[in-house]
Amino acid sequence: MSNSIKKIGVMTSGGDSPGMNAAIRSVVRACAYHKIECYGIYRGYEGMIDGDFVQMDARSVKGIINKGGTILKSARSQTFRTKEGRAKAHEELIKAGIDSLVVIGGDGSFTGAMIFNQEFGFPVMGIPGTIDNDIFGTTHTLGYDTALNTVVDAIDKIRDTASSHNRLFFVEVMGRDVGHIALNVGIAGGAEEILIPEEDLGLDRLVESLRRSKKSGKSSSIVVVAEGDKIGKSVFELKDYVDQNMEGYDVRVSVLGHMQRGGAPSCFDRVLASRMGVRAVESLIAGKSNFMVGLKNDIIDLTPFDQAVKGKSKINMELLRVSDIMSI
Ligand code: ATP
Repeated sequence: MSNSIKKIGVMTSGGDSPGMNAAIRSVVRACAYHKIECYGIYRGYEGMIDGDFVQMDARSVKGIINKGGTILKSARSQTFRTKEGRAKAHEELIKAGIDSLVVIGGDGSFTGAMIFNQEFGFPVMGIPGTIDNDIFGTTHTLGYDTALNTVVDAIDKIRDTASSHNRLFFVEVMGRDVGHIALNVGIAGGAEEILIPEEDLGLDRLVESLRRSKKSGKSSSIVVVAEGDKIGKSVFELKDYVDQNMEGYDVRVSVLGHMQRGGAPSCFDRVLASRMGVRAVESLIAGKSNFMVGLKNDIIDLTPFDQAVKGKSKINMELLRVSDIMSI
């Protein structure tokens, strides 16, 4: 391994997700292992511009592997979208002697990192941290597995009350562009229908399908709706439509919202974060830059930033069929 890297900066950017702390811990400890200094950058690109850095050693990340959120805080920075903002960020990094970066975040954060690399030739590696799992080049982003478990737990609880009152619940889950969360929790939570951005079921077919399940003896129903579902109506509009077109159900809505981002990371996310952090640091040491670390067939692999940003994460079509069969 080359040893021209002396000081790595690590930051979390964009929306937070469970497992970000485990990834910070991994980056810091991999640096300590390879005798490289490590600096935490607070508040993503915003803190980079302000020079808000803290030196971190192996002990400064104790007790965080099991914590949700991010100890370094996260932010969205408008200033970093400007040339002047990025120049100031570069100046602050150079002043602190930081010579490379690990950015933990989503595709927006990687776009920013890529532009920064193009402008200043600054070595940077990315770790995908977002619950939506909407990044090309990895089958799992950090926080996705935890979010699935959080949402399934919530649906189980909603099911208890739905079946006690013969209710139909529309449960809105995160997923503006991709229906990974909705599709998986829909199957795991026994949903009657799953509405995702990739497929337009149509209002009439939805009502028809709910009527069919009622006829077949079901006394309660759960419909999981991804935020960006193709029908294009809000869950509240869906509720109104079904209310007006179906008899015999008390229709309710539950929007799970930000609770999906929180909580202790699952075992899977902790292990994934640990693997990704080590690979990110060792890739920088090996002279690599402008890549995202990802998981493919249980192997940690690298995808160039431009592909990770431009590519589209796709749902597993087999799950759609399984879900259809399960909701008979
Ligand atoms: P999430 O998936 O949770 O939304 P994200 O990383 O995609 O995470 P964004 O808000 O899109 O979140 O991006 C995070 C930050 O990255 C932005 O606030 C901005 O500072 C920086 N960034 C995004 N796009 C660009 C860009 N085109 N040029 C410069 N910086 C950018």
